Amino acid sequence: MDDLVVGAGILGLAHAYHLARMGRKVMVVERGRKAMGASCRNFGMVWPIGQPVGEMEDMAMASRGHWLNVVREAGFWHDTAGSLHLAYHQDEGAVLMEYQEILQEKSPEVAAQRELLGAGEVRRRVPKVHSHGLKCGLWSKTEVGVDPREVIWGMPAYLNQKYGVEFQFGAVALPVDDGNWRVGPNRKIKPGRVWVCSGEDFETLYPEVFANSGLIKCKLQMMRAELPNSSERLGVMMAAGLTLGHYKSFAGCPSLPVLKQRLSEELPDYEKYGIHVLVSQQGTGEITLGDSHEYGDEIEPYDKERIHDLVLRYLATFLDLEQLRVTTRWSGCYAKHPEKPYFIASPEDHVRIVNGPSGSGMTLSFGLAEKVIKESL
Ligand SMILES: Cc1cc2nc3c(=O)[nH]c(=O)nc-3n(C[C@H](O)[C@H](O)[C@H](O)COP(=O)(O)OP(=O)(O)OC[C@H]3O[C@@H](n4cnc5c(N)ncnc54)[C@H](O)[C@@H]3O)c2cc1C
Repeated sequence: MDDLVVGAGILGLAHAYHLARMGRKVMVVERGRKAMGASCRNFGMVWPIGQPVGEMEDMAMASRGHWLNVVREAGFWHDTAGSLHLAYHQDEGAVLMEYQEILQEKSPEVAAQRELLGAGEVRRRVPKVHSHGLKCGLWSKTEVGVDPREVIWGMPAYLNQKYGVEFQFGAVALPVDDGNWRVGPNRKIKPGRVWVCSGEDFETLYPEVFANSGLIKCKLQMMRAELPNSSERLGVMMAAGLTLGHYKSFAGCPSLPVLKQRLSEELPDYEKYGIHVLVSQQGTGEITLGDSHEYGDEIEPYDKERIHDLVLRYLATFLDLEQLRVTTRWSGCYAKHPEKPYFIASPEDHVRIVNGPSGSGMTLSFGLAEKVIKESL
């Protein structure tokens, strides 16, 4: 066995994909009967627009290329319609304009993928968007939607059939002695390399590494909902003013502090629970909605109905979805580093720990795995 990958979340799957394509013999070991971590609980947004231009946006775009290869080869549902950020306040419109101006200077190629639209054009393209108070929208072509449940639970069969990756579900991977790993109650292997992609469970394997890593956990609350007419399409994945304070890509905009100050005064509960509202639509027609951000010691196992109310209330400020019927509520957890966009450690020569892509793990997955493997082999 050349490679043992621990965890069949998106980071583990992305490592298995690249390693197997290099002709290596790969085994993925997953504790659950299927992977039930952050990777099947998210929006399914491959979201390069959230990454600052440069190394991180490049990584997100490289990842996007691999995503398209995988979803096309495996026949998974996907939507390349892109994303739309909406502005209903002057400061929000100003941030979008500044973003586009700064981008134009830094990288005209990336700026060419984005387009500032007037209110009328936004409404023409997405009729469900509220017109009242709408200032403008930033349309971007680079975002891709996938169905997280379909891709995370379907990718093992694709990787097995296409690239011969072996999967062992319902088994905990544990290092034992002398480079050996236990990969189930009755099986021990000695892999050439180990890639630890264990997600929010970062305490169990190499606890001393994680104790010093600075990684923290973040809990998010989510919903899925149905429209009365399931064949109705929104047309694009959407975000509004609250999101502009969330992603690093908007960080250099001069009007951002003004926007943040206003939001903190007008919407203190949104700040308290770290809520910003994103909307994606799956191939089934269902809408995925969220989210909130509670960190470290704030995290409790109990979901707060108040958070769901706040998300739905904010959604109603920009989308006309009155007859939306919420069908499912859940929460998810990811690991995050306070300063770094991801965390890599090498506790032993043949072991790489890859973790902490925070809210961008779906976006960065294939690009991050490619980088780690290239630098390690
Ligand atoms: C609600 C929510 C919404 C999000 N939305 C988006 C989005 O739209 N776009 C985006 O880019 N990112 C999004 N993210 C972030 C993204 O989902 C995560 O960054 C990513 O899924 C992390 O992947 P992972 O493989 O590291 O972890 P996980 O998906 O948690 O996978 C880790 C796996 O390892 C297994 N495991 C752990 N230890 C062992 C062991 N010893 N032996 C065997 N198996 C083990 C676990 O069972 C688990 O299945 C979101 C996250 C959440 C929670």
